[in-house]
Amino acid sequence: MPKEIKHSDRAHALLSASGANRWLACTPSARLEEQFEDKGSTYAAEGTLAHEIAELKLRKYYTEPMAQSTFTRRLNKMKKHELYQDEMLKHTDTYLDYLKEITLGMGLTPYVAVEKRLDLSRYVPESFGTVDCLIIGGDTLYVTDFKYGKGVAVSAEDNPQMKLYALGAYSEYSFLYPIKTIKLAIIQPRLDNISEFDLSAEELTAWGEEIKPIAQKAFSGEGDFVPGEHCKFCKAKAVCRARAEQFTALDDFKNLKPPLITNEEVGEFLGKGQHIESWIKALKDYALSESLKGNEIKGWKAVEGRGSRNYVDLDKAFAHLKENGIDEAVLYDRVPLTVPKLEKELGKKQYRELLEESKLVEKTPGKPTLAPAGDKRKAVTNAVDPAEDFK
Ligand code: SF4
Repeated sequence: MPKEIKHSDRAHALLSASGANRWLACTPSARLEEQFEDKGSTYAAEGTLAHEIAELKLRKYYTEPMAQSTFTRRLNKMKKHELYQDEMLKHTDTYLDYLKEITLGMGLTPYVAVEKRLDLSRYVPESFGTVDCLIIGGDTLYVTDFKYGKGVAVSAEDNPQMKLYALGAYSEYSFLYPIKTIKLAIIQPRLDNISEFDLSAEELTAWGEEIKPIAQKAFSGEGDFVPGEHCKFCKAKAVCRARAEQFTALDDFKNLKPPLITNEEVGEFLGKGQHIESWIKALKDYALSESLKGNEIKGWKAVEGRGSRNYVDLDKAFAHLKENGIDEAVLYDRVPLTVPKLEKELGKKQYRELLEESKLVEKTPGKPTLAPAGDKRKAVTNAVDPAEDFK
């Protein structure tokens, strides 16, 4: 009997691998989050569905060979989901292709586990997690994660979520397999992002020992609140005092001497205010939901937003307009697709053949944009090199 795939019903550990980035940096956040309900989001639900499709394909290929009719029936059931999009098929294929490339290159039949629940409690109290796919071939353990989001490209480099999965897998399988190397990979097809990171088994277990006391602190809810980029995924992000104080501390600058601030101060302000936009957004979302519940937020209230006008029946409306002499050209915009959209429509291969190879597309440099000093991109400047100027 095929196992029913239901990712949305999964239990979550207090110290989950996916939240490790946050609770490792801000140890009391995990306990603080307990008082907030898990609201979920459309993006999360969309990702869950894409994961279910990926899981079905992986099971069929690796661990649970099934008749094509069974596969199609199960896939068709998923296709009825309101968030289903055809592109999910293409993106889950990209993930499967990545895995096939790993396993087809192996001499001996590898061990493959799909949607494997791992016990992480050797390093993190009462923690467990489910990895999308792990493969063991020879002395190498591959831990792969399929990410359907397209907001931010996620890097596998030193990624705590991936390292925790790897620790769980290593704890379970190192007795059976001589694992020496760990290969982590995040496959994020909607952003064309495949990020890989390798480390040795010793490096992995040393990291595990390092985080043990931090995880213990987080489990007990101890330590200091440390705001940072990780706050945007915290359930307390709107009402956390430490986060609010991070931004209200901008008041410290009020005693600066007028009239102008220095470039050094500009840098300092930008650094302090870096995540202010997402904080204000979280405050607004929170204040709106409180107001709708009838709770008072001093100085604010919920009102009805601007409505929009929609056709009751588009086909009927347009037919009526045409019958009354309105030209079709007035009714439709004919807009050329942008290059990225056309590439998506044609597929990479045809796009390359028809446009890139015929030199019909060009890449122009992007407009200069501000980034923190630690950003990997090279700094650019318009300033003229004095040596060149002298020449
Ligand atoms: S909002 Fe930020 S500082 Fe506050 S608990 Fe969450 S992670 Fe920690």
